[in-house]
Amino acid sequence: MARVFALVTWNLQGSVLPDLVPGWSPAARWAAGVVSALVFFISVLLHELSHAFVALHYKMSVPSITLFIFGGVSNIEGEMRTPGQEFRIAVVGPLTSLALGLLLGGVWLAMPGDIGRIIMYLAAVNIILGVFNLVPGFPLDGGRVLRAIIWASSGDITKSTRVASRVGTAVAWGMIALGVYSALMGNLGGLWYVLIGLFLKTASDNAYGQMVLERALEGVFVRDVMREAPAPVEPQSNLKRVVEDRVIGRGERSIFVGGEGRVLGLFTIADLAAIPVDQLPSMTAGEIMIPAERVVTVQPGTPLLEATRAMTERDIHQVPVVEDGRMVGVLSRGDVLQQLEVRQRFGRSDG
Ligand SMILES: [Zn+2]
Repeated sequence: MARVFALVTWNLQGSVLPDLVPGWSPAARWAAGVVSALVFFISVLLHELSHAFVALHYKMSVPSITLFIFGGVSNIEGEMRTPGQEFRIAVVGPLTSLALGLLLGGVWLAMPGDIGRIIMYLAAVNIILGVFNLVPGFPLDGGRVLRAIIWASSGDITKSTRVASRVGTAVAWGMIALGVYSALMGNLGGLWYVLIGLFLKTASDNAYGQMVLERALEGVFVRDVMREAPAPVEPQSNLKRVVEDRVIGRGERSIFVGGEGRVLGLFTIADLAAIPVDQLPSMTAGEIMIPAERVVTVQPGTPLLEATRAMTERDIHQVPVVEDGRMVGVLSRGDVLQQLEVRQRFGRSDG
């Protein structure tokens, strides 16, 4: 965050302000750069707050807002419940940016001169932010607006997300092509379009996959999918025997260390592979395990989507399911995938 702020300030005083206010001293440019960067960040923040404000009005929680260089990303929890809600939550952001642009434009008209030109530049930035976010590619705001419109007419949120993400991907490829073309014509600024296009393409692919996952796993909890936990090994168990009995013998990939129903820790085959083979006979499970307090656990009542996110974010394949400090089962990514496959093949049980 501080780094992005510094980058924006540096870019403003170095490449933007020399053109806008050529007569200013470097010190004055730096001061104006800091103030302008501040106005820029407040603009992006207001855009995001407007989304959050409307979402809160519909009693949806907004746990975090991440400021981003092309506009922020509000983390609005849960799917929109109606197309109308989604439409209003999405459209208010670009409208806020456009309104800020007009407001600053008005200030510029009232205030000619050097400072007025800086304000004009900030007005233009807000207009660009508003227009860019209105591009109808999901997950940009405009893509959400498009999705809401298709959703309202078709009643099918999955289909409308698919269409809106395809438009998003098409827009992304368009930007990449435009950027490459203008870079080949000698305008290196075109590389920015390539970067933004790549960002948008990744975002639209992810957003669609995320939505499919969310729909499929809605209303499923860890207890519905978890398996019975394999018996844990004892902390003093010999590692060579653990490898022979559990890894080779039963194909287990992560092994829990415990006693009297409690999880003391766990280790995976990757941890085992890091140890030279000739040292295995002289080592114990307790020596290489990750202690329980650093092990990610879930509860039987944890929503499966949340558990899946926790596993994906930390790149772990298996988590112990713990209730009242006792291990009651184990959840693996394989189990989640299998559940997804079944649900996609046979449809959702709640109809
Ligand atoms: Zn927005």
